Amino acid sequence: MDLEWNGATTRSGYFDEIIEIGAVALDDSMNIISEFQTLVSPKQTRKIRGRIKDLTHITNDDLKNADGFVTVFKRLKAWIGTGDNCMLAWGNSDISVLYENLKWYNMTDEIYIIKNYCDAQQLCQQAKGISLNKQVGLAAFAELAEVEIGEDQLHRALNDSRLTARCFAKLCTPALFDMFVKKADRIFYERMNFKCYNLQDLSDEQVIFSDFMTECPDCGIFMKRLTGFICKNKKHYAKYRCAQCGKQFNISHTLKITYDGLEHRKTLSEIGGVQTSDEAHEAEPAPEEAMQAAEE
Ligand SMILES: [Zn+2]
Repeated sequence: MDLEWNGATTRSGYFDEIIEIGAVALDDSMNIISEFQTLVSPKQTRKIRGRIKDLTHITNDDLKNADGFVTVFKRLKAWIGTGDNCMLAWGNSDISVLYENLKWYNMTDEIYIIKNYCDAQQLCQQAKGISLNKQVGLAAFAELAEVEIGEDQLHRALNDSRLTARCFAKLCTPALFDMFVKKADRIFYERMNFKCYNLQDLSDEQVIFSDFMTECPDCGIFMKRLTGFICKNKKHYAKYRCAQCGKQFNISHTLKITYDGLEHRKTLSEIGGVQTSDEAHEAEPAPEEAMQAAEE
């Protein structure tokens, strides 16, 4: 499935309003067996933004005679049917925008017509050994994976759906599919809509102080923190020293609150050479001591 949308500024805030829905249905052998395409008349903002017009070539005139989202969704629902299925899309923004549009019309329960979800972008990137932290656009990916783009105009819902399907059909294996398919249940959407953020305030009750304790990468023992924390760009920096080898490190701590809770990430960078001192051969500090040092 692929959607085109237009940014609408309404009295209750910004909203990505769907203006086109495209989809293709694949059978078990990855053949396209059915297609769905329709324009959607926007109700919140009549005017299509210039950038969207340039990208999609959809004009206000094209949308004049289209049905609104509620009517179109009924047709989509009938096309999808009630059986088991898995929605594929390039990235996670289409499913998120679909949810947002359903929410706008108090129809979020309708989303459960989609039984499973698979991010075709992640699966295809994994198949090609491209880091999942990167976001490779559909056309760019098709080119590097030698999937035929053809003459179809991209950034139109049906054409992008067909191209997504071709990329997926070329690269998907049962093992990859198992790795990326997700049950599209309530938790899936809660997780999708959760806004992750980095904790700035170390007095926040979600902070776990023992998480700051860091082992020396060479000796494997907990290091002593030498300084207080300095917060910069939503990261917390402090200097640490290993009592065994004398190495000192600047460590940046990122405390990210995700749907699943606190995620504490550290980056160590060694300071200068080895710092020798009397403490260098001290015994390994007990974890409680190190923790106390961290809390001081
Ligand atoms: Zn060490």
